Amino acid sequence: MQEAADSFILHREQNGLAYLQAPLFKKAGWVDHAFSTRCGGLSSGPLATLNTGFHVGDSRENVLENRRIFFAQFNYDYRAIVSSTQVHGTTVKVFDKSNSGEGARPGSTRSWCDALVTREEGLPLAAYSADCQLIFFACPGKRPLVALAHSGWKGTLGDIAGTVVRFLKEHFSINPGRLLAGLGPVVCRSCYIVNREVAGRFQSAGWEDKTYLEPGAGGGFNLDLDAINTVQLLRAGIKENNLVQNGWCTSCRPDLFYSYRRDRGVTGRMIGFIAINNKQC
Ligand SMILES: [Zn+2]
Repeated sequence: MQEAADSFILHREQNGLAYLQAPLFKKAGWVDHAFSTRCGGLSSGPLATLNTGFHVGDSRENVLENRRIFFAQFNYDYRAIVSSTQVHGTTVKVFDKSNSGEGARPGSTRSWCDALVTREEGLPLAAYSADCQLIFFACPGKRPLVALAHSGWKGTLGDIAGTVVRFLKEHFSINPGRLLAGLGPVVCRSCYIVNREVAGRFQSAGWEDKTYLEPGAGGGFNLDLDAINTVQLLRAGIKENNLVQNGWCTSCRPDLFYSYRRDRGVTGRMIGFIAINNKQC
């Protein structure tokens, strides 16, 4: 694993809310961002307590209130967020204020994609996960830019991390050397076993080294999404000292995170968001 400049830090509030933030992004001053945990919400049972996903059997009221609690912590209106229907692809889409509120209510998404980009101030881009990795991007400058990607094994195999960087270079003339990138919590390699077919696809794509993929228990393979996404970001031109490394496994920490694998599909979703605030210089 490469040395990185930073990692996500856990914050706990008095109201029970807990979330992760990266000091490197906070230090930039003009970025607001966070990744939620399961702590501080209203949901119960396997969804306890801060479930932010509509399609996991929770009540609409619980989800909306959980989102309200989370976004209020960062002074954002949960009704103004933008998210997409996540399809485990590598499509990148640009959003502006005309998209505000897409995904804020059940059935209100208008885009099918796994990477969101905006230059709009005060527009929170949001994505959801329970084992998949969210990747945060922020580029400073006269016209700053933020992006958020969702990467499970299919997105990782498709190099969504590198795809986002190349998209920003091509469409916004972003210099990857200035781009901040942050890797959110993800199921760790010890907890993540894939079958022979999935393993074969990663082998064919050049990830056959033990650093990324290793034969494990029961004929399966341990797959390291975090390590592969890290390499993809570095190969795309992200500098090591601009990279926020993940230190959290969603499956290893049932006290903090939902995990689709660990909970056999009966679980909630964490939310990650990133926005350009109005404090930019
Ligand atoms: Zn783990």
